[in-house]
Amino acid sequence: MTDLARRPALDYDVIIIGGGPAGLMAAIAAREEGAKTLLVDKGERLGRKLAISGGGRCNVTNNKPLPELMANIPGNPKFLYSALTKFGSPDIAQFFERLGIRLKEEDHGRVFPVSDKASTVVNVMVERVYALGCEVWLNRPVVGLMASETGMAVKFEADMVRWTRAVVIAAGGSSVPQTGSTGDAYPWAKALGHRIVAPYPTAVPLTSQSWFITQSSLKGISLRETTLSLWSEGSKRPLAQEQGDVLFSHFGLTGPAALRLSHFVSTALRADPAAKLRASIDTVPGLTADEMLLGLSERRRVDGKKRLETILESWVPARMATVLLIESGLDGRQVSGEVPGKALQSLVQHAKGLSLSITGTLPLEKATVTGGGVSVQDIAPATMASKRCPGLYFCGEVMDVHAHTGGYNITVAFSTGHLAGQSAAHYALALPPSHLIDSQ
Ligand SMILES: Cc1cc2nc3c(=O)[nH]c(=O)nc-3n(C[C@H](O)[C@H](O)[C@H](O)COP(=O)(O)OP(=O)(O)OC[C@H]3O[C@@H](n4cnc5c(N)ncnc54)[C@H](O)[C@@H]3O)c2cc1C
Repeated sequence: MTDLARRPALDYDVIIIGGGPAGLMAAIAAREEGAKTLLVDKGERLGRKLAISGGGRCNVTNNKPLPELMANIPGNPKFLYSALTKFGSPDIAQFFERLGIRLKEEDHGRVFPVSDKASTVVNVMVERVYALGCEVWLNRPVVGLMASETGMAVKFEADMVRWTRAVVIAAGGSSVPQTGSTGDAYPWAKALGHRIVAPYPTAVPLTSQSWFITQSSLKGISLRETTLSLWSEGSKRPLAQEQGDVLFSHFGLTGPAALRLSHFVSTALRADPAAKLRASIDTVPGLTADEMLLGLSERRRVDGKKRLETILESWVPARMATVLLIESGLDGRQVSGEVPGKALQSLVQHAKGLSLSITGTLPLEKATVTGGGVSVQDIAPATMASKRCPGLYFCGEVMDVHAHTGGYNITVAFSTGHLAGQSAAHYALALPPSHLIDSQ
């Protein structure tokens, strides 16, 4: 503290820690405001997670109107309202189009580059950062931060320090650590007085111990646009319900609907680690229960000599038919004409809501997104400024915000990155002359 206060000159107006989508956008916004800016990343490339997002095609944003966009952000959406209003998905789309990237909208409002290549998006952002004259350091892990009334010190390995008016922390969460997001910033933020909500996995596959999962009976079967519900033991209503594709794996469920439900699984298990959870899946999404029962009854009448399993296979794959028959306590070899109506009702009930235990999710390292992080209660939503430490700003997944996949997280990263970069520049440039060391 004392050393910092005595230091006469600062190296930069703004230092941005982390070159993911949030940090890249923050660097561009800070430079566009005229701040002398340094962008630091510990990896050898910028935008490593961005480059693998959206199946390697980079889902740059989502074109849904703001209320719908916010409905897809289960992790602290209200906190993000201001940022999303100032620089939301239309601004993100315009930003890329101005940089020469043609975009296209796909299902569920998801926006991709026409090239279908994430590298198009990463490259154009990196080029913009350099073109604006932002200094970039790669392979430089930041190891700590210090704050004083006159500025902040960013610490690197081998006792190297750089002095700045403002710092933007854009170091990401702690999922998929091979992309550089390893939760480094949580201890720095904590040391500067911020509360940290313990990180947890979201947008992550669900695990189950039901027999047909552990025996891989349904492995590889996918259901299109189905309904997946989450229940706690004894509850009459589902805790949550999601629409979308579901894929059975050897450990549980994956696919968009399962990833969306994972937020509610993580939330329930954080509240009560002993909670008993179950999911139910509509295995015949194309038909209502009544339609299916009618169809089965009709087939039983017409093809009464055919086995029940053969008839059921008109609606579901053979492996699914076997599981549904076992779960319903029926013998699939029985000729359908002999199956009582009550048994058919039970079969339909299981087909329209195949129930399985949910024991949790895959671990944080495997999660697409990190829940938890720097508490939003310690960050001003209108500027992304820390409420605890003047000159410090946050953006992206390092904060306790998270969204469903579908371009929503990337939108949050770009939106908060833009606001944090701009606010940090305004803060730095509004202060008395900083006597910057001319190192650019
Ligand atoms: C496989 C995959 C697919 C995804 N698909 C989608 C999708 O389709 N839609 C969607 O909305 N979201 C998706 N996401 C999530 C989205 O990519 C992230 O939410 C987003 O990248 C977060 O941006 P960020 O800038 O906050 O953090 P990150 O992208 O994690 O970037 C953080 C950066 O900080 C750097 N850093 C960390 N610590 C230090 C340090 N000590 N010193 C210096 N630098 C440091 C890291 O090297 C990294 O470059 C996907 C994620 C994954 C893993």
